[in-house]
Amino acid sequence: MTLSFDPRAKATTLYHGEFRPMFIGGKWVAAQSGQEMQALNPATGEVLATVPRGSAADIDAAVKAARAAFEGPWSKFSPYERQCVLLRIADLFETHWEELSVSDTLDMGLPITRTLANRRRVIGMLRFYAGMATALHGESIDNSIPGEIVSFTRREAVGVVGAIIPWNAPTAASIWKIAPALATGCTIVLKPSEDASLTPLLIARLMQEAGVPDGVVNIVTGTGAEAGARLAEHPDVNKIVFTGSTLTGQAIARAGVTNLKRVSLELGGKSPIIVCRDADIDKAVPVAAMAVFVHSGQICIAGSRLFVAREIHDEFVRRVAEYAGRLRIGHGIDSETEIGPLINARQAGKVEGYIKAGSDEGAQLVTGGSRLTGELYDGGNFIAPTVFGAVSDKMTIAREEIFGPVISAMPFDTLDEAVARANATPYGLAAGIFTTHLGTAHKLARRIKAGSVWVNMYHAIDPAVPFGGMKMSGYGREGGIEHLHEYLETQVGLDPD
Ligand code: NAD
Repeated sequence: MTLSFDPRAKATTLYHGEFRPMFIGGKWVAAQSGQEMQALNPATGEVLATVPRGSAADIDAAVKAARAAFEGPWSKFSPYERQCVLLRIADLFETHWEELSVSDTLDMGLPITRTLANRRRVIGMLRFYAGMATALHGESIDNSIPGEIVSFTRREAVGVVGAIIPWNAPTAASIWKIAPALATGCTIVLKPSEDASLTPLLIARLMQEAGVPDGVVNIVTGTGAEAGARLAEHPDVNKIVFTGSTLTGQAIARAGVTNLKRVSLELGGKSPIIVCRDADIDKAVPVAAMAVFVHSGQICIAGSRLFVAREIHDEFVRRVAEYAGRLRIGHGIDSETEIGPLINARQAGKVEGYIKAGSDEGAQLVTGGSRLTGELYDGGNFIAPTVFGAVSDKMTIAREEIFGPVISAMPFDTLDEAVARANATPYGLAAGIFTTHLGTAHKLARRIKAGSVWVNMYHAIDPAVPFGGMKMSGYGREGGIEHLHEYLETQVGLDPD
């Protein structure tokens, strides 16, 4: 793809192995312990920069700053003024989008064409919640019991929000937490993943430039076990919004019990795709393939269980495998790259373990299945897009979230059977249906237990539309008006006479 700028040239201006401080109370600081962590480029293994390894003391300082801002300067901002701040941030994001995209690509590997393409979704989120800042209101309710009482509700910010995010979409995940916090008048302490901290620090710079008062947005880099755990259990944090694995989500929900803070969780998945006999195969093949391969499978909504009507199963799987074989795998910073690396050696090793389990348990390897080697790949963690056929529901690769480029394809005979098998998972994040019959699409969609069910497409995420999971994929929704309610308290005032 031809871009209007040279991402490699831009990359050389960004990181040179230097120390990048974190952002607490409007100041750029090192960890109180002096400890640092390396930010590695997953495509090459090179050290991009070092960042503070924040610990409990740094989280405490950030929460204190967020509380002071919440009760001080930020509380004096009218909804209109908060709206203006969000719109200024959105404008700065437009100006700096290439820089943010290159930073994300370097830090977590997603190809530059993809990070650039997230623009509408991320900036759209900022503008959507800017609009909502002045639309928050209470209600008047005529009382339901005899008498002449009218009650009034008003909505107020919940307070200090702690946000903990994974590494696979640092810019989007940061903004999906920060924008609703600013719209509602909350303040926020955000802890990025230790595997992708750099872009959230760039975002902090833009917050400062946009005139966000000190302490309203704080970014504390550090590990989950230290900084993350302290944020989750902190007694002065009113709400935690978390995106990450189900296991960590459970730990965070438990930690939140200390002060009964609100918790919303966007967790893992094992999402099904159902390809009906009447599907438009030409359209369905690339979408089904990229439903998994897009970020080397490192997306929560990866449609990793591919149920295909038996009549078309063999042809469909063959064509998905051919499509996978044609994908250009390489460094995300090259504009021709379609698939980048896995985030680190640990994740690549985990995926290799799943591929081995697939073969050991009797699945048929149709394509891929190995690590890529050679000059282009040796510094990073690259695994070929992999398709398994003849998978059964009981196999490990059909049950567990792999978070890697692996599709498990399985035939089905009836739609009832497909729905039952699609739902036979502890997760409920997303699903895809491919059919040319609108009635079939509607009937199937409502029977699938997943927060998002896409028809003849995948990955459609809109700032105005709630996104989130059912079952072990979490609770709460991000996006849309629903998301704002999670950052707001409702207070009732009585008018007895
Ligand atoms: P992870 O759960 O290991 O880490 C996520 C974040 O939690 C990181 O910032 C980490 O430092 C922190 N953390 C870890 N242990 C913690 C603890 N005990 N207390 C507090 N914080 C802690 O997840 P990951 O490997 O970074 O990301 C992959 C997972 O995230 C996958 O399961 C994926 O499905 C999920 N995910 C979900 C969504 C969604 O919207 N549903 C989006 C992206 C990723």
